[in-house]
Amino acid sequence: MRIIRCLYEDTIYFGYIEDDLVILSKDLPRIEIHNHEKKVWFEREVAKVPFAKVFLEAPCVPTKAVCVGLNYRDHAEEFGLKIPSSPVLFIKPSTSLLSPGKPIHYPTLSRQVDYEAELVVVMGKSAKNVDAKHAFDYVLGYTCGNDVTARDLQPKDGQWTVAKSFDTFMPLGPWIETDLDPSSLKLRTYLNDEPKQFSSTSNLIFDVPSLIEYISQIMTLNPGDVIMTGTPSGVGPMQKGDHVSVEIEGIGRLDNTVE
Ligand code: MG
Repeated sequence: MRIIRCLYEDTIYFGYIEDDLVILSKDLPRIEIHNHEKKVWFEREVAKVPFAKVFLEAPCVPTKAVCVGLNYRDHAEEFGLKIPSSPVLFIKPSTSLLSPGKPIHYPTLSRQVDYEAELVVVMGKSAKNVDAKHAFDYVLGYTCGNDVTARDLQPKDGQWTVAKSFDTFMPLGPWIETDLDPSSLKLRTYLNDEPKQFSSTSNLIFDVPSLIEYISQIMTLNPGDVIMTGTPSGVGPMQKGDHVSVEIEGIGRLDNTVE
């Protein structure tokens, strides 16, 4: 199932795509487990409209985005950093959320704003102290994300909050793909259609189930919360006027501009 959040006639809905139609709903879908099988369903379907009539918004509204730094071996090496023994976590605020197609605002405080292509896990159920072997029961699906980073501000304060938290620094989308095995997906970044990052989620140091186990020991993950799983090597700067795309196999392509 391909889940979207969209604007239709001045109202924002969730929904899912069926051929060239969208079935609109008021809420994120629910997850139910029956005989070890996961079922995703919408409680209140309100209308069926043509896909061409809706405008895509970020596919969920997280209360928090838990992000993993240095989760690809090649990216850690690129910055001359040691492979971490446990996940390095930071949080992006909900106010940094950006919809597909919308512009990333280049902050006046920064002189270097980088793209970071990431596989994003979207939670579908409240998760606390979840064992890795049951982790997928709590996942709604996966989307593309760009962990936009003011690289020049990152070393300044020892914490990453400033560098990672500007408004518009968390583009997500274009939709949530529910039927996907996240263990070996090709991931690419294009800057003005020129290929920049290329890797596979099989190179993750900490995989999706172990991240959910670790993070849910620390904090409750709410439905709609996201885990940004980290970026591979090849990160680099964007300039005003650039067009940046994150493409992940089995999901699609997230496009944004820089202003
Ligand atoms: Mg990142």
